[in-house]
Amino acid sequence: MYIEVILPVPLADTYTYFVPPEMEAQIVSGVLVAVDFGKNKRYSGLVSHIRRTPPENMPAIKPVLAVESEHSILRMPQLRFWEWISRYYLCSLGEVFKAVVPSGFHAERTGIYIQKTESFLRFTPLYATPDSEKEAFSLLKRAAKQEQLLHSFIQYSRAGVSGKPEEISRKELLEKSGASPVILNALVEKGILESREKPVSRLQNFSRETKPLNKLNLFQQEAYNALIQNFREKDVCLLHGVTSSGKTEIYTHLIHETIQKGRQALYLLPEIALTEQITGRLKQFFGDKLGVYHSKINSHERVEIWNNLLGNEAYEVILGVRSSIFLPFRDLGLIIVDEEHEPGYKQQDPAPRYHARNAAILLASMHGAKVVLGSATPAIESFHNAQTGKYGYVCLDKRFEETGLPRIIPVNVKELRRKKKMKGIFSPLLQEKMQETLQNGEQILLFQNRRGFAPSLNCKVCDWTPRCRFCDISLTYHKQYHRLTCHYCGRTYHLPAECPECGNPDLKNIGFGTEKIEEEMHLLFPGVSIERMDADTTRTRKSLEEIISRFETGEARILIGTQMISKGLDFEKVGLVGILNADALMNFPDFRAYERAYQLMSQVSGRAGRRKKQGEVILQASHPEHPLIQSVLQQDYRAMYEMQTEERQLFRYPPFYRLIHIVLKHKKEEAVSEIAGAFATLLREKLGDRVVGPDKPAVGRVQNWYIRKIVLKIETQASLNFLREILTASGREMLLRYKYFLLQYDVDPVG
Ligand code: ADP
Ligand code: ZN
Ligand code: ZN
Repeated sequence: MYIEVILPVPLADTYTYFVPPEMEAQIVSGVLVAVDFGKNKRYSGLVSHIRRTPPENMPAIKPVLAVESEHSILRMPQLRFWEWISRYYLCSLGEVFKAVVPSGFHAERTGIYIQKTESFLRFTPLYATPDSEKEAFSLLKRAAKQEQLLHSFIQYSRAGVSGKPEEISRKELLEKSGASPVILNALVEKGILESREKPVSRLQNFSRETKPLNKLNLFQQEAYNALIQNFREKDVCLLHGVTSSGKTEIYTHLIHETIQKGRQALYLLPEIALTEQITGRLKQFFGDKLGVYHSKINSHERVEIWNNLLGNEAYEVILGVRSSIFLPFRDLGLIIVDEEHEPGYKQQDPAPRYHARNAAILLASMHGAKVVLGSATPAIESFHNAQTGKYGYVCLDKRFEETGLPRIIPVNVKELRRKKKMKGIFSPLLQEKMQETLQNGEQILLFQNRRGFAPSLNCKVCDWTPRCRFCDISLTYHKQYHRLTCHYCGRTYHLPAECPECGNPDLKNIGFGTEKIEEEMHLLFPGVSIERMDADTTRTRKSLEEIISRFETGEARILIGTQMISKGLDFEKVGLVGILNADALMNFPDFRAYERAYQLMSQVSGRAGRRKKQGEVILQASHPEHPLIQSVLQQDYRAMYEMQTEERQLFRYPPFYRLIHIVLKHKKEEAVSEIAGAFATLLREKLGDRVVGPDKPAVGRVQNWYIRKIVLKIETQASLNFLREILTASGREMLLRYKYFLLQYDVDPVG
């Protein structure tokens, strides 16, 4: 028997191995095997398929060393899905394998999955009958604490119907009784209780008890009906619903309907910041049918979720971030892509650089499932697909409880500064409104999409600016750590006491980030409790949850944050939102900059006055008359869409053209420049003016790798197979000519 094995390497898709006869019975597609690869490197690989005959012209075929999993770790149609991912996103099957199978399954890595166990206590056989309980107590006459603990044991370990004391985990008993381990050990030593290790799950256990779904209001019911209607003809439907219209409620009804039919539902979220709130809402309705999968769970938990889904009592609803599209679903009936416009759905590095929304649509088609894309500010691509009839479209423009959308008030900061009426970060109007809001007992949200204290330092005398030694980017000043940080590679540097070029001791901060805002707010509102939410304050899942919870409970009155605060979080008492610097959002070199700025400003505005009361938003900008700012003020998505699509058509961008970034990297600048030039020339011979560049990207060096980028603009209806052949052939030719360089493809790039 010969098999094709997928290995975690970025080269060929599969490699042929020979199966020793004694292992044949265990081999099926999807089983993990250990094999030698290259110079005696041992890898875990995945059996792709069995072949009866050996390939021709292969001199020495190595044997499989061991079978590592009892069963296939995949379900239909996962392999087909991997193949699609690797074809579409131009990477190898091995790269998909490496990225999606939890590392706990791979034997060659550290952190192989280990079943977690806990100590459980029960009566020893000698004292396990009700009569003998009395005897046990008689042993404890002169040990009051032990006697008390035994009572606690009987009380807390009682099992449901039988009412007899059974078993309780040691940890739980100690917690509930408040007794010390010494007392407990005494009971074990006296032979009354015994302890044994039992396997336990690491996953959050939700209660089996659930409550009925919330009843939809009239508008929600109409939207729900319209979705069902659309699904008769279309597989994908865009639910364009303003913030707080109750999209999440509609999702819960669709999920309920799906699992009633015995099928599974996948609820995708763009990032972990949101999972806590949505988990809280879903577990009420779906209880222990719900599994949660996000990027901050550890590799053991990953394996447990994976195994749960392979088993007979699998989760029926999975709430997860983008990588959960790779879980082994039995039968998906529904995929919800919430906040579908979010760039967080795109995987940047490493390969596969997939877009989870687009991949989810393909996955759904393999399962015969329906897809809901939900957003208050849809991606232009999705809205376009709805316009052309490719997707269904359902609009929900009433907020739940019919509070109006927030009132957005523009403030012209350029003019205020010119008239010397504004010095720092906050305009007089914003300051006034903040005072008012706090007096009314409401909360404030401040949005600035820059973390750190100052985006940059500068010497006024010689114009020196500190830059990363390994990346072409200026460093951000973090006051809290008294450090300069590179936001590309994460390296930190000491803050110079004076300018290293000219000795000037007075280095100025340029611009402001969330850290600086926090400091200023403490000065403005001493004693008021303030939270900051950005990549620096949320390194761990715990700290993120704590920030959200302190703001939810009202313990914190003010929340300052980057784009993390714009996403779907549902806070009840936000009276005022401040957008501090609209210009910074609009001025970055990307064709999606305006779309993104619109989305961020609308989304963050949407956090104001959810439920009960209309909220207010102060939008600080240098050019409030700019058409994009106007579309935000009027909350006119269509105006933004029309404006943007016109430009995109003109300049050959999505949704009219498909973009592919070819990224080349080399440690030497001249080399990368030459290679990129040659590659572009080669491609131009076949693709003509669809090839743009090469260009040096805005950050032309990262981690000491010099970077060049070639952009392909391909007609959306063009054949990808044909294109892939051209790219593979040209790439191979380049590798022959220039032995060493890094080559990456990014299909449908974001940002
Ligand atoms: P969206 O997802 O569109 O932003 P949500 O589903 O978060 O809106 O709804 C906003 C708030 O209104 C939530 O707190 C939600 O619980 C509440 N809500 C919306 N619809 C209903 C309903 N039909 N019954 C009860 N509460 C609702
Ligand atoms: Zn200087
Ligand atoms: Zn760097």
